[in-house]
Amino acid sequence: MIEVKPLPFEKSSVENFLSESTFNFHHDKHLVNYVNTTNALIANTPFENLSLVELVKKAEGPLFNNAAQVFNHNFYFDGLSKEKTQCYGKVKELLEKNFGTVDSFFAKFIEAATKNFGSGWTWLVQLPNGSLEIQNTQNANNPLTSNLKPLLTVDVWEHAYYLDYQNRRADYLKDFCQHINWNFVNANLDKNFS
Ligand code: MN
Repeated sequence: MIEVKPLPFEKSSVENFLSESTFNFHHDKHLVNYVNTTNALIANTPFENLSLVELVKKAEGPLFNNAAQVFNHNFYFDGLSKEKTQCYGKVKELLEKNFGTVDSFFAKFIEAATKNFGSGWTWLVQLPNGSLEIQNTQNANNPLTSNLKPLLTVDVWEHAYYLDYQNRRADYLKDFCQHINWNFVNANLDKNFS
């Protein structure tokens, strides 16, 4: 069965970005609902003992939608930092190699996420040849099903930012870029998502 992953910080601690109220809905209602629905769908089926990543790669239809939303939300919350951060380490080298500077990566990431029409996610992924790329996905879709390595994601479903930013998605994205948990992003470079 899939468990609800706790937030890696206090809900009230992310100053000048997302409010406790946003996390009350986003983590405690939306994510919990995706986890509960996933568990109801896998109960007494061969999917019951799969890991979350295996589930996402093998499921289809409503089970895929719910399991992928669990993965995506865990990945998004783990990628957030309650404090403002600076990019560092191996991922900084790779961003500079692929996008010129970290700031020009931010500009391209924000542009892609702003143009991601409707509900979806914007990702930084690593391709099999080692290079980095920005990808938009719709609804629950994510890079795991294309066998790409996810490094970072931002949730652009309106429920992610509407309480704090209303229609100002670009402002949410600008603040997101200042609150990235780069420890998490660097660690993902060495992870095997299979
Ligand atoms: Mn969400």
